[in-house]
Amino acid sequence: MACTLFFLVPAAVKLVFRMYSVEQQKTTPRFISQTEYAKALRPLLPAAAFAPDPSKLLILLINLGIVGLGWAIAAHLDRWPAYWLWLYLPLTIIMANSVVALLFTSHDLMHGSVWRSRRWNYPISFLGLTLLWMPPTLWKVIHNRVHHSTTNSLDDPDRNYLSSQPATWGKWIQDAFVPSNTVSKLGLLLGMLSAWGVHGFRNLTSVIFFNHKHANYVPAPFVVSRRDQRWILGEVLVMLGLHLGILSYLQFDPIKLILAYFLPIGLGYAGVMAYIYTNHMLSPLTEVNDPLLNSVSLHVPPLLDLLHCNFSYHAEHHIFPSLNSNYYPQVRALLAEHYPERMGYTLGARAAWRFLLTTPRHYQDATTFTDASGQLTAACQMNPVMESLECSASKT
Ligand SMILES: [Zn+2]
Ligand SMILES: [Zn+2]
Repeated sequence: MACTLFFLVPAAVKLVFRMYSVEQQKTTPRFISQTEYAKALRPLLPAAAFAPDPSKLLILLINLGIVGLGWAIAAHLDRWPAYWLWLYLPLTIIMANSVVALLFTSHDLMHGSVWRSRRWNYPISFLGLTLLWMPPTLWKVIHNRVHHSTTNSLDDPDRNYLSSQPATWGKWIQDAFVPSNTVSKLGLLLGMLSAWGVHGFRNLTSVIFFNHKHANYVPAPFVVSRRDQRWILGEVLVMLGLHLGILSYLQFDPIKLILAYFLPIGLGYAGVMAYIYTNHMLSPLTEVNDPLLNSVSLHVPPLLDLLHCNFSYHAEHHIFPSLNSNYYPQVRALLAEHYPERMGYTLGARAAWRFLLTTPRHYQDATTFTDASGQLTAACQMNPVMESLECSASKT
């Protein structure tokens, strides 16, 4: 009897201790890493969610077809009477939407959730990204490798600048054109039309001309291999050739170029940035990659989710980057069931934009924004769990 007690008592103490720590883990606010969410939710999703979805390839090709058709029609605009030219504008808008869809479908393709053919994925994503001036090799590094593994940490090239970073041209652009409470209306408009291009140009020049960790005009410099550097340069030169080909097909005619090239591309970039600005730029910086604390998902009209492959489900995408994006609503439902206290990561599109336009854009610290002068400050968009984490950190 004494012998049995000798074994039972320590085992019971261990069990009680374990139960206590599980309970404490549940109630103590803490960061949960992307891998931890994925490990918990993966068994609850159907196997089909992890299988490639070639229908997105069809969407990509349809959108390539739409811009091609737009240029074919625009090539004859010189035969249209001037007072009928406005009839081309609906096609300009449709082409702009195709630019948005080309980025988001290429994004899914490059994550491997559309089609897993190394041979075909590369040329198709190259075509998909050409109007975005984004070499696929650069995208693979900056987005798939760096952004997804360092999301909204100090090492993330997509983050806001820190107020302590030097006043470079890159930071000046952020001040003048990115949504904040200090940006002018004209600056915001020009920024919407061009920020995607500026983002690409900033990172492209950083890896082509510097390719070291001290390039100070990007928020967080990153390094690519010599081989990737050569590929990126080659891809951007081929893209330049393709763009020149489009311009010459449109006979460098100003009306054709405005209606079928500059406007669709500019408006397409504005559509892309309308999502991208809200992905992480209103969230706190985090050392642990906790997608529900450092990312925002938007509520947008169902038609936009259909056209843009559920890109509004950005936090869910960060948990499962190569999941078929049709299943992101299911991931959100699982999150609501298993992590109800962390659901503050979703925002209406209007609320997210209101937040962007009423706060400064540089990080003073992990949870506070400030402006260029350092005079204005505002708290980041905080998930309530992040607020509890901040409270417990300030108590210790
Ligand atoms: Zn992201
Ligand atoms: Zn991604």
